[in-house]
Parts: sequence; C-alpha cells; structure tokens
Amino acid sequence: MGSWNYSVFFNEAMNQAKAELGEHEFAMWFNIEYDSSSESSIVVRVPSSFYRDQLIRQYQKYLEGKLFDLTGKHLGLEFVVVKPSGQASVPGETAPAPAPGPAPSLEASPTKPVERVKVKHHQLRTDYTFENFVIGDNNGFAANAALAISKNPGTSYNPFLIYGGVGLGKTHLMQSIGNRVWAENSKARVICITAEEFTNEFIQSIHDKTAQNFKNKYRFVDVLLIDDIHFLQNKMGSQEELFHTFNALYDANKQMVFTCDRPVSELKNLNDRLRSRFERGLNVDLQPPNFETRCAILKKKVEAGRVAVPDEVVEIIAKNISTNVRDLEAALTKLLAYSELVRKDITLEIAQHQLKDIFSQSKHGNVTIEGILRAVADQYKLSFSDLKGKKRTKNIAFPRQVAMYIAREITEYSTTELGFEFGGRDHTTVMHACQKIEERLKLDPNLESSIQSLVRTIKEYSSKA
Ligand code: ADP
Ligand code: MG
Repeated sequence: MGSWNYSVFFNEAMNQAKAELGEHEFAMWFNIEYDSSSESSIVVRVPSSFYRDQLIRQYQKYLEGKLFDLTGKHLGLEFVVVKPSGQASVPGETAPAPAPGPAPSLEASPTKPVERVKVKHHQLRTDYTFENFVIGDNNGFAANAALAISKNPGTSYNPFLIYGGVGLGKTHLMQSIGNRVWAENSKARVICITAEEFTNEFIQSIHDKTAQNFKNKYRFVDVLLIDDIHFLQNKMGSQEELFHTFNALYDANKQMVFTCDRPVSELKNLNDRLRSRFERGLNVDLQPPNFETRCAILKKKVEAGRVAVPDEVVEIIAKNISTNVRDLEAALTKLLAYSELVRKDITLEIAQHQLKDIFSQSKHGNVTIEGILRAVADQYKLSFSDLKGKKRTKNIAFPRQVAMYIAREITEYSTTELGFEFGGRDHTTVMHACQKIEERLKLDPNLESSIQSLVRTIKEYSSKA
C-alpha cells in the first residue's frame, strides 16, 4: 500500500474543481482532505456523513473523471468520515472519551466499498479483440507478435509498430492488445489514443498551463497505445514531447504500441531521434488479405450477426472486394441492412443486385489514369504531356514504364485499354513496360519503396477526388 501515493493528482483534481466550479461552490462542498492511496483508489477524509453523502451524490463521478484524465487510471474515491483533527473512524470502534464541549460526532465510516465490477475501458472498443480478429497469411506475424506482447507487456518487442494501408486491421490489432491486458488486469494503466488526440491534448495543456499534468498522465502508464502516428509529421512540438514520453516509458519497461499508414522510414518531417525510437522495437506490416482470408473474415462477421448469409454470397463479396477489410465489411453491412429492412433472405441475386455499384467502384476505385500520370510526372519532374507523348529518351521512358506498371497493378484496365490511355500505344508496349519494371524491382529495393509511395499518393489523391 505504502508505494501508492496519488496525492499530487488528487490535489490537482481539487485545483481544477475549484477553477471550474467557482470559489463559492467549492468552499461549500469540497471539505475534503487527502488521506491515503491504494493501487486503485484514493481515500479522502470528510468531516461528516452529511458531506460524504453530498459528495458521493454530486461530485464523486466528476472527481473520478478528473483523476482519470490526470492519471489515465480508473481510481475510485473512498470517503472516510473523520472528526476535524481526529482520527479516521473505524466501524465498531468506541469513541474516545468526550472532551468537554459538544458531544463528539465521531461517526463510524460506513463507506460502501466501491463496486469493483469489470468496467469497460473508455478508450477501447469492446469488439476490437483477438477473438474477433481473423488470422491469415497477411497478418499472421503481426497478430502473433501482438498476442505475445499482451502476455508480457513491456518485456519484448518494445515498441511494437504496426504499419500498412487503410482498413487492414491496424487499429483493431492494437486495441486487441489493450483489451487483453485490461481483461487480465483491470488495474493496469492502459491509454489508447490517436496521435491527433495526443497532439491536441498536448497543445491544450500548454495553453492551460497544465503541461505537467499532461506529462504525468503519459509517463505513468503501463501500456501506451498511439494510433496513426503519421499524423505527427510536421508537428515538431508534439514529436518532442512524445520523444520524452517514449524514453521514460522505455526505461521503465512499459509497453508502447504504435500504428502508422506507412513504414516509418517513409515518414516525412519527423525528428530523427523519434524516428529511430519508433524503429527500435519490432515493426511489422499488414498486407491486404487474400481470398481465403477475406472469406474467413466475412464468415466471422456473419456468425456474430442474426442474419444467415449463404456461402456463395460470402464468396462473391470476397471475390469482388480485394482492397481492404473495411470495404469488405461495408459491403456486408449494406447487404445485411437491406435484408433486415425488406425482410428478405439474402440470396446470390439480391447480393449481386444490391452490391453492383460497390463492386464496380472497388474494381476501378477512384483511381484514374490521369491521376497516375500526374503523380508520376510530379515525382520525376516531368510534364504530363511528356509522359503521355512519343518521346523515348531514357529520362522519360523509364517513368512512363513506372506509370504503366502502377496502372496495371492498381486498376482493372486491360493492357489494350492501358495502351490506348497512354497515348495510343500497343498493348505489347504495356506488357513490356510491366516486365521491365518487375525485373528492376528484383534488383533495386529503392524502386519498390518509391513505387509504394507513389501508389499511396495516387490513392490519397483519388480518395479526395
Ligand atoms: P486500420 O486501422 O488499418 O485502418 P481497422 O483496424 O480500423 O483498420 O480495421 C478496419 C475494419 O476491419 C475494422 O472493423 C476491423 O474490425 C476489421 N478487420 C480488419 N482486419 C481484420 C481481421 N483480420 N479480422 C477481422 N476483422 C478485421
Ligand atoms: Mg486505424
């Protein structure tokens, strides 16, 4: 018990309450003194059962909320009634001999034990668990590492960083770690936030002059989960703060997990010291799931629901949507909603009809050949017309091949269609270009990462179009 002392946090919570509620209200009700701490609660002294009851009724939740914000931990407040300048009363204990004056009002302390039901962690989604996560060849390594980490947080693979494109399960997997740790030990201090929230809260804390609270909150956690760290690009102040948080947690063997939409090496405007910290532990990527895994994921979602979905429908969705799991789920959700609304069983015909648009959109996405040409021209500092034109100088021919290769990879256009789109060329030219790039990819790892980053730019651009 002696090793827990939350008095600093308690006092800060009181200061904040005073500022928020005003002197008057505060003076009237907050007749409280810090007494002691245990791992999961703070004991406070109040002068009478009247105050205790009022505080419990009106302010307990409010104060506990503040304590959570300050510590990242669900600390319960326990009230003990103590005669001013007296000792904590103990149930059944006889009152000391009355001093002259009014009868002593030393009351037994019938503080109800704070109910210790299994509370939901307010930052973790209850459905983002390992049980709901389908392991396939696209995510097996990441999922097994995540499982190992949740058994022994902080001991190996620290930090753990999951990267990959949208909708591939990064957030789900990261929160599964949090949920597992929390399920096994609800006293563990688990914080799960996005990098954007981290940044906003940091800025706010500077503004409110509560930077110390902010530091305390993040430096005294057992497991820190930060989603989408690519958001930190260009945010130098937040990077600096995270760097110090990182060091404190790392030195204390506390687990950190991050997610990112690309390999850390491709993040721009990131402090080198922080970059090297991110890369220090285990970095694992998630790939799009293959057909079998897509079917398995859909089946899992179907099992969890009330509506029956025939296998052939599962397969047609899995076949037509290969981009990511989020799109897969969206298609299924649409179908389920339709079936519930019109009260019809789901059949292959209904699925084909209802999902027609989603299927065709998923095929071509919003990616246009023009978008690809613009991105590639940009990257290689050429003009759009150079790339589409007839010139065959090496500095143009190679980027053109890259553009053709990317178009072949990320759209469903045939080589004939692509030849046409690329300035009226023959389909064999497109095939030749793709072959050339494939050969170079085997020899040149830099080309692979520059193509990946081009694809990302193209997709980002087209998702905004
Ligand atoms: P990301 O963070 O990579 O963009 P999410 O973690 O938000 O992706 O996943 C998108 C959706 O797909 C979520 O609803 C998630 O539950 C689901 N999902 C992703 N991968 C899997 C998987 N392997 N098994 C089951 N559901 C998955
Ligand atoms: Mg995510």
